[in-house]
Amino acid sequence: MSHLKMEKQKRIALIAHDNRKGELIAWASKNKEKLSRHFLCGTGTTASMISAETGLPVRGYQSGPLGGDQQIGACIVNNEVNLMVFFWDPLAAQPHDPDVKALLRLAVLYDVPVAMSQSAADFFLGSTCMEEEYERNVIDFVQARKKGF
Ligand code: PGA
Repeated sequence: MSHLKMEKQKRIALIAHDNRKGELIAWASKNKEKLSRHFLCGTGTTASMISAETGLPVRGYQSGPLGGDQQIGACIVNNEVNLMVFFWDPLAAQPHDPDVKALLRLAVLYDVPVAMSQSAADFFLGSTCMEEEYERNVIDFVQARKKGF
């Protein structure tokens, strides 16, 4: 395993499927003060809605169905996103389901914590880890290859 350091100031990706956008926007508004201490980004529509509602700067990528999830996934790989609040819809099929799956896979691979509901997101913000540096464990592929997987 190798370690990837998260700074005190986290890089948080915010994503919500359409039926859950209201929930994420309400959560972001309630936690505006805490979120203002971190760098925020998100998929296109979610980012612009949260920014409009809270006044916080949220870097927007493409809309999810147009490739935004893949862009956030690339940010995880580049260590530009180290925490994710992703309210995905458990009750509706998404046209970009393979992208959603790929994004969640990368989050696990890179040990990026993901909150998928309001309670999990509240636990995130209540964690002392949010105010400290933190080291994630990421598989060391060079070593892994040598061992034959
Ligand atoms: P959106 O994308 O924020 O552009 O709506 C979210 C998603 O559907 O993944």
